[in-house]
Amino acid sequence: MFPTCILMAKKLSLGIFSFSCCEDSSIVLVEMMNDHWKDWAKLIDFKYARILQTKNTLGEMDVAIIEGAIAHEKDRQKVLEIRKLAKKVVAIGSCACVGLPAGQRNLFNEETKKEIQFIIDKFGMMEKVESIPQIIHVDDMVVGCPMDEAKFLEVLNKYLVEFEVVPKP
Ligand code: SF4
Repeated sequence: MFPTCILMAKKLSLGIFSFSCCEDSSIVLVEMMNDHWKDWAKLIDFKYARILQTKNTLGEMDVAIIEGAIAHEKDRQKVLEIRKLAKKVVAIGSCACVGLPAGQRNLFNEETKKEIQFIIDKFGMMEKVESIPQIIHVDDMVVGCPMDEAKFLEVLNKYLVEFEVVPKP
């Protein structure tokens, strides 16, 4: 928690994006708001966060948080676009960081792969599910399934200082 006396006018512009996964790290993030919302509302400008709001703007941002693995080319293109728009990118949860468990079909044997091929074809999915670091440079990773809450807080607080939203402790 940050004491109100150190709050400054600038806010951290943040995007939260979720791709193929069960979205439990997003749930963890929303649950964390029970304890941190009072501070975050003053310190963070949520530019894009479909878990929180219906109006979202995909534009330049300080930090993009990405959850989930990538299974479709259109999502892959969106991740590339996010990388261009965000100064820093943070992958949260194992699916985003290493592609699993969301990408477990990559590990199927040939017989099982054949059985699911009609689904891959029907939805135009990529042959292999990819993690976020396989597609773009990631500045920080918060591993865990779901993500490690303490580590996420550490990374977020680091960027609040780095982008001069709060002074160095
Ligand atoms: S890392 Fe685990 S909790 Fe997070 S989206 Fe993947 S399966 Fe769900």
